[in-house]
Amino acid sequence: MRLFSILILIFFSACSTVSITERKQLIILGDDVIYPQAFKAYENFKKKNKLIKEGTDYDNIQEVTENLKKAIRTFYKTHNKPDPTSNFRWEVILIDNKDMKNAWCMPGGKMAVYSGILELANNNNAIAAIMGHEIAHAVARHSSERASQGVLLDFGTMALEQLVLGRSLSGGNRRLYEYFANFGLMLPFSRSHETEADYLGLVFMYIAGYEMEESIKMWERMSKDGSNSQPPEFLSTHPSNRTRIENIKKWIPEVKSNF
Ligand SMILES: [Zn+2]
Repeated sequence: MRLFSILILIFFSACSTVSITERKQLIILGDDVIYPQAFKAYENFKKKNKLIKEGTDYDNIQEVTENLKKAIRTFYKTHNKPDPTSNFRWEVILIDNKDMKNAWCMPGGKMAVYSGILELANNNNAIAAIMGHEIAHAVARHSSERASQGVLLDFGTMALEQLVLGRSLSGGNRRLYEYFANFGLMLPFSRSHETEADYLGLVFMYIAGYEMEESIKMWERMSKDGSNSQPPEFLSTHPSNRTRIENIKKWIPEVKSNF
């Protein structure tokens, strides 16, 4: 009975909606729980990797991030909707690693681009396609949603009580930290999260003034590269497939007329 009341309480307090797609999602772990662990892992990640802090590539990713950031802020303001990025602490770093073709955005807007992926994302429209998609995962709170599902599955009644009653959950925080310490390399997002990020990513790149068509070309380059013996890391968490490219083709005119 007790567990049942707790679950009811969770469902009522934790149900939120992804803006733009209007999908309902269950978020038990709020930004106040998620962000500190993600930021801690990000700081640690910066110490362990060789960063590029100047040059054309660096300037490009900073510029694209700035444009996407501004576009998102303006979009929510003009539509009079709460801005899911208002508590972001935006940051993007360029990792000096030609062998690594990857990019990610942690909750709260902490991003990384590996120099290797810039061979495939070789112009600002393509960078905007990748970063728009990654930022979309953070805007739609996909990691928080997945961690919340993990809490439901793994932690059991006592942990749920602790969370609902707001008690500290040291074991839980450690697990969250470990999860973010491997961000972008370990678990892929679910198919539905990927599809949602593809759509939101297109919207964001479009309102920031980039060419959505480049997104199709970028995924095609990615899958071609993936047929080599060493497929890009990005593909291990973002399987490219016909459906994804078909969806994007279908959405481009829709985004152009709706946004
Ligand atoms: Zn993704």
